[in-house]
Amino acid sequence: MSNIVAIVGRPNVGKSTFFNRLVEKRQAIMDNMAGVTRDRHYGYAEWIGKFFTVIDTGGYVTGSEDKFESQIRKQVKLAIDEATAVIFMVDVRDGITGFDKEFANILRASKKPVFVAANKTDTPDKAMLAAEFYELSLGEIYPISSENGSGTGELLDEVVKTFVSEGVEDPDEGIPKITIVGRPNVGKSSFLNALLGTERSIVTDEAGTTRDAIHSYYKMYGKNFILIDTAGVRKKGKVKEDIEFYSVLRSLRALEDSDVVIIVIDAERGLEAQDVNLISLAERQGKGMVIMVNKWDLIEKDSKTSDKFKKEIEEKIAPIDYIPIIFASVLTKQRIFQVIEKTVQVFENKTKKIPTSKLNDAILPEIERQPPPSIKGKHINIKYITQVNARFPSFVFFCNLPQYIQPSYERFLENKMRAQFDFEGVPIRLIFRKK
Ligand code: GDP
Ligand code: GDP
Repeated sequence: MSNIVAIVGRPNVGKSTFFNRLVEKRQAIMDNMAGVTRDRHYGYAEWIGKFFTVIDTGGYVTGSEDKFESQIRKQVKLAIDEATAVIFMVDVRDGITGFDKEFANILRASKKPVFVAANKTDTPDKAMLAAEFYELSLGEIYPISSENGSGTGELLDEVVKTFVSEGVEDPDEGIPKITIVGRPNVGKSSFLNALLGTERSIVTDEAGTTRDAIHSYYKMYGKNFILIDTAGVRKKGKVKEDIEFYSVLRSLRALEDSDVVIIVIDAERGLEAQDVNLISLAERQGKGMVIMVNKWDLIEKDSKTSDKFKKEIEEKIAPIDYIPIIFASVLTKQRIFQVIEKTVQVFENKTKKIPTSKLNDAILPEIERQPPPSIKGKHINIKYITQVNARFPSFVFFCNLPQYIQPSYERFLENKMRAQFDFEGVPIRLIFRKK
């Protein structure tokens, strides 16, 4: 269970300064490349052994054309929906403003614990000014200075008391990290935008910059997932060559970081050499995969079109035969949901653990029916199978003569494994070991 602390307040009170102070220690390298910087509004922090996520809600609404009042509502709604505790930040130097009162009115009505941080209390003599904020009727006032850190410890001591758990050190664990890849113009950005625009989606993070790619948190159709966005970054570039160079680096890094890769292809062009390379790279890295054939709206179809298309793809990526292929159109929104649903399923296939007894009950009889062929008059005897901990499903087959297992028999076993257990979209590894 993760703890979430939201920071709300009008512009310029110091929310992002405070946010940066909280997350700077745990935040990976920030993206400071010219032209591609995006503000972070979502980060991880730790205080006295408690882990939590911080949201700077102000970051979500600045620069929009909304009226100020609706911005306030948006911020507070986000905070109330998502947060364990809310830090309401005000500026001691300005005193109570009309907007502060509006925030306070909405916050008072919420059931969440609210902490009023009177920021910019840089020196003890300013602390007196903080008392004015008791008028907001939101309880204790915490005079702090986001700039020099004074008072922030006392505030955080109280905030973490509202947590119901220690928090999780890696809040991303168990949530699929997804990367959308594909050649230029296949529709990656359109797909991303369509996801963002889906009415039922809630973007809980527009931009947390981790390492080289942007990690965006989504909750859609009841599923949580993280999109590692490389496509979106590229388009913001100013220095074209640099951006191209970095975008390739980023794609590779993003692939490394992700659990499942959505390979987008253009229906009119089919699967191309570069896609095949990407798929074999992803397979070697043990990544889950989904192929999204986009722009399906442009194809003239009869009852056999999709089967023919599928066959063509499968011939190109043979012997890989386990990747789900979905025919979609971002333009008409056809099967966009299925792509996400399938991606989450693939992640589940990738992370599941099969108990040893179940594994042996299912596979040993198959081996008995069709044992490994004898080599040089020697019988190969597979005794038992167990799944081992690894980045992707890996199974050890204990046998007397592991060196004599032929690739064709390994293939046979993999097929049986896939027939018995659902590993759609996921590479699996069989390891033969002496026992
Ligand atoms: P936000 O719009 O609420 O995110 O506010 P910012 O974090 O961008 O801060 C607005 C301005 O207030 C910046 O110029 C900060 O340097 C300044 N500021 C933030 N915290 C403090 C503080 O504790 N003391 C002082 N003196 N200035 C601060
Ligand atoms: P990216 O380079 O992979 O990010 O591709 P874009 O998202 O920029 O899309 C390239 C072009 O394909 C744009 O003109 C899109 O409008 C168009 N496009 C994207 N998806 C579809 C689709 O499903 N059907 C059709 N007909 N056009 C699409």
